[in-house]
Amino acid sequence: MDAAEASSAPRLLVVDDQPTILQQVHHCFTPDFEVFIATDGEQALARAGLIDPDLILLDVAMPGLTGLDVCARLKRQSSTKDIPVVFVTAGQGEQEEMACWEAGGADFVGKPINPLTLRKRVEMHLKLKQQAEHLRRLALTDGLTGVWNRRAFDELLSAQWQRDHIAKRPLSLMMVDIDYFKHLNDGHGHLAGDQCLRHLAERISELMAIGHGEVARVGGDEFAVLLGSTELAQAAHLAQKLQKQIQVDPISPGPQGEPANVTVSVGIATTIPASGVDHRMLFSRADKLLYQAKLEGRNRIRASRF
Ligand code: GH3
Ligand code: MG
Repeated sequence: MDAAEASSAPRLLVVDDQPTILQQVHHCFTPDFEVFIATDGEQALARAGLIDPDLILLDVAMPGLTGLDVCARLKRQSSTKDIPVVFVTAGQGEQEEMACWEAGGADFVGKPINPLTLRKRVEMHLKLKQQAEHLRRLALTDGLTGVWNRRAFDELLSAQWQRDHIAKRPLSLMMVDIDYFKHLNDGHGHLAGDQCLRHLAERISELMAIGHGEVARVGGDEFAVLLGSTELAQAAHLAQKLQKQIQVDPISPGPQGEPANVTVSVGIATTIPASGVDHRMLFSRADKLLYQAKLEGRNRIRASRF
């Protein structure tokens, strides 16, 4: 476990070349916050990448890289661009204020520091960040099952496609669809059907976590699993495990309900991502293989490498 994972307290990176300010800020935020310190711009950039702080308090005037330079660089990097930066500045001119906003700052507070104001500002920005993260998560999650939704899956696939293209590694995409799900809805009711979808999502998620798979619900009773850097044989092995597990321990439509005899059909497409090829190609290939599994009688796996 590294320093960033050791505590659930918000992580604050304080950047200032003046020890008295560092002391004052430290005093203001401990023990409720985990406070990390950097005394110049280069150190701030290095530490921000390492610690992944929830918020950065940044001095504007420092020898070497200024706070404005540091902020602009943080905002250009995808890994740090969403960290709110609050400038702490002795300057009072309109020009400096403008420069803080233009560099990408979320706010600024004046020196000498008023501890209460500083704390309230930090708390407000952390709350805003949490709310934004919560909304983003909601927008990417399937409401019924809690796994990713189709939009999120497309983003994940696109990113993994790039990574495996660079590394020249195989990427596997698995589609899982419940067989005759309409019958289950008709026989047990829609709520029981919902319960089945939740249970199946859990099963798939648990199992695919072994292969670091990302799971999404991409249709009514259709799930997609993204298996980055994974050969077809490994993906097929995971699909077989899923089918076997559902057979041995059937999916139940409700707490009192009889276990439903749920089976799934699976399509798996694997490729080493080539440049100039749309990542969605893998999705449609896996979907076609799923369709083939359905046509050939269901409860089976069809897999192919492209
Ligand atoms: P197949 O073996 O060909 O897949 O047959 P199927 O009956 O499963 O047919 P299909 O996959 O085309 O139909 C999916 C059904 O899933 C249709 C719809 O009534 C049902 N469904 C879609 N979304 C939900 C949902 O959120 N909850 C429930 N309970 N049912 C849903
Ligand atoms: Mg179905």
